[in-house]
Amino acid sequence: TSCEALVSSFLERIEAENPRLNAFISVDPEGALAQARALDERLARGEPLPPLGGLVLAVKDVICIKDQRVTCGSRMLENFVSLYDATVITRLREAGAIFIGKTNCDEFAMGSSNETSYFGPARNPINPDYVPGGSSGGSAVAVAARMCQAALGSDTGGSIRQPAAFCGIVGLKPTYGRVSRYGLVAYASSFDTIGPMTHTVEDAARILQVIAGVDRWDSTSAPVEVPDYLEALKQPIKGLRIGLPREYFTEGLDPEFRQVLEERAAQLEAAGAVVQEVSLPHTEYGIATYYILATAEASSNLARYDGIRYGYRADVQQIRRELAESDSDDSVIYRLYVRSRSEGFGTEVKRRIMLGTYVLSAGYYEAYYAKAQRVRRLIRQDFDRAFEQVDVLLTPASPTPPFPLGSKLSDPLEMYLSDVYTVTANLAGIPGLVVPVGTHSSGFPVGAQLLGRHFDEATLLRVGRALM
Ligand code: GLN
Repeated sequence: TSCEALVSSFLERIEAENPRLNAFISVDPEGALAQARALDERLARGEPLPPLGGLVLAVKDVICIKDQRVTCGSRMLENFVSLYDATVITRLREAGAIFIGKTNCDEFAMGSSNETSYFGPARNPINPDYVPGGSSGGSAVAVAARMCQAALGSDTGGSIRQPAAFCGIVGLKPTYGRVSRYGLVAYASSFDTIGPMTHTVEDAARILQVIAGVDRWDSTSAPVEVPDYLEALKQPIKGLRIGLPREYFTEGLDPEFRQVLEERAAQLEAAGAVVQEVSLPHTEYGIATYYILATAEASSNLARYDGIRYGYRADVQQIRRELAESDSDDSVIYRLYVRSRSEGFGTEVKRRIMLGTYVLSAGYYEAYYAKAQRVRRLIRQDFDRAFEQVDVLLTPASPTPPFPLGSKLSDPLEMYLSDVYTVTANLAGIPGLVVPVGTHSSGFPVGAQLLGRHFDEATLLRVGRALM
């Protein structure tokens, strides 16, 4: 069947399902159909298709596509149109991928449930009264509900892996530096990564193959050789050493999750892997460390939304009138800045800006930010030591199955705790892969997370395939 027919069928599916699931913020039917027709013409001329020819992809709305809106799930950027393609988009475009639309997410990727989006929450396709996870919730839903073949997400503290687990799909967070961040709207720059969300490990491997590699527009992208991931998938897992980190299997973990993961570990053992327990002793400091450092970086990154240069701008005339009637010394610019940010950002983003500004302030810098930097190093060392003993770690992706919409919204700490198994990989910069490995009695999927050495996505994909 033609690429055009394929795109049409996904567009129909989006029309039918999106009102209920709210996975897309914008859909680009004309653009997607034009891309599809161009590929069909190449086929008609007998030309071979490029490696991802006809792959219908949804893109989290924090990644720039030229001439399309990039809202970041925020009122601040509700009408902001990108002037350029992100590097991942340039590479995927050249590889023949078709971009069908931009997906819903937590505002500026801050959240674990997709509920902080200005555009309303995306919903879990298995039960729409439950969250799909976040922040790349829309991407996970779009893939799980088959409104596209695959999606791009971003992962700063778990935003690809946790929604993948909640929706029963594959999600890969690459090593920090493996994939260019050029054209990804910054949340916490030393943590941010872009990766694929797919139905199969093979698709994740194919997409990573295209987006991985050094990029002159991102100085933190690493000049490390990109292996042939599909070739790597063919290697058996016999002899691989797999570690179960003790600190990830404690009372906080849902007992059914534990049971499924232990069964899966036994299965890998039966296939010739060597399974052993390992320790990551600083795990308990992961959440605190992450939320200090990520909010610090966010407060700095989000300073650019000033209501002047771009993004939401409060009503200037109104401010002028108010100032004329009052005896305040405030300047128009000052009021405009304050009001644009007050009206443009939602509650969670404001909370993070305040928290981040606080931990960076002169009197508290040493006590919070500097200390968190040192703990970050300890967490990274935990992983370095573990990877002297084993090749891959097998862990849960989240402590519990998805929760009902609204149930954690009033308690930010409770929400932050749901990231306990994912933030450590971002603190250490290592890659993480989530694959669906079973079904919980609640009807929701059980996800397994694999963590690996820096730049060793190949081994994760290999083990991930053995698990599915
Ligand atoms: N839930 C985490 C946070 O809110 C992670 C988000 C992400 O990875 N973008 O910061």
